[in-house]
Amino acid sequence: ILEARDVHRAFGQTQALRGASVAVRRGELLAIMGPSGSGKSTLLHCLAGIYAPNQGEVWFDGARVDTLGETKRTELRRDAFGFVFQFGQLVPELTALDNVALPLLLAKKPRRQAYAQAAPWLERLGLQEHGDHRSGELSGGQAQRVALARALVHQPRVLFADEPTGALDTLTGEAVMDLLVSTAREEGTTVVLVTHDARVAAYADREIVVRDGRAVTTPSSAVA
Ligand code: ATP
Ligand code: MG
Repeated sequence: ILEARDVHRAFGQTQALRGASVAVRRGELLAIMGPSGSGKSTLLHCLAGIYAPNQGEVWFDGARVDTLGETKRTELRRDAFGFVFQFGQLVPELTALDNVALPLLLAKKPRRQAYAQAAPWLERLGLQEHGDHRSGELSGGQAQRVALARALVHQPRVLFADEPTGALDTLTGEAVMDLLVSTAREEGTTVVLVTHDARVAAYADREIVVRDGRAVTTPSSAVA
């Protein structure tokens, strides 16, 4: 459903990706692993149509993504993709529930419908008591779960997650991974996640390792 072909991406002098290729199947949960600075987040952003590659191609659902204009790419991201990033992304002045409802409001859903759809997601993530707390006042782990609820609320076809369990304790991290697995199984959502944690990657159907800006399909035993 989603594919990067020989993707290169540089930031100034830094070659973040130098020929990364990966294909993700529909409904698959793929874990991207690899050392810090190897290009994992950059690959995720290229797959998601956020960064344009300098070279190479990105395909989603049979169509090129990297050659789409900015407006079309923004639409694609809004309609078909959900995101959980490595660093804070909630609107701190809004409540947790407002944050989760936001993508639906942006997609022009009526308010009442948007909030009715958003509330159960807070519950699923164990946040029902925090719905009316300003998200700037939540703990890191709570905020991360609100971000996840927000990413899933419009039932995206692909969820991109960069270290979704990074700020969570083991138990909460396991609950989040169980939720991602069931989302992939039950809704057919394709999940692409970046993680450092082998225990998190163990939930995935498949893992790839990014090393020096290239994707390696089999983890090397030489690296811990
Ligand atoms: P980590 O595990 O630490 O999150 P990563 O594998 O996600 O690392 P990337 O964030 O993809 O690594 O970065 C790959 C390289 O590209 C790094 O050298 C980084 O400094 C550089 N880089 C990434 N994003 C940018 C940017 N927006 N501007 C400049 N350099 C960047
Ligand atoms: Mg990263």
